[in-house]
Amino acid sequence: MRPEDLYSDVIMFHYKNSSHRGALENPTAEQEGANLSCGDSLRLYIKTDGDTISKVTFDGHGCAISVASASMLAELIEGKTKNEATEIIQEFYKMIKGEDFNAELLGDAVVFENLKQFPIRVKCATLAWHTLEQLLK
Ligand code: ZN
Repeated sequence: MRPEDLYSDVIMFHYKNSSHRGALENPTAEQEGANLSCGDSLRLYIKTDGDTISKVTFDGHGCAISVASASMLAELIEGKTKNEATEIIQEFYKMIKGEDFNAELLGDAVVFENLKQFPIRVKCATLAWHTLEQLLK
């Protein structure tokens, strides 16, 4: 398998049509993340309602993998509590490392399972997830 094969329809759909793209007005918190090895640079915005993450968006620029991954992450954690979001992030890391993980929690993001064969692209896929992890701290 070549890295190009990772650009599946699901990845390209999220890259081109993400409904979570764009800055959020009056966010509760925002956080910037960058992956220098690829040139990906994203900013995540969240709005919280008590303990619930009610809205998630991102902007910036990056390769298809980093942007699609941010879109999938936003879709997954919107409406979840901070604890649930943290759990989802940990499952994503387990998948990327090739450990057992709960696929039910990861939705479309399971398309990145094969990325573990391409360590250099792993940084692209995990950028948004690391950024959110920092944001939730
Ligand atoms: Zn990238």
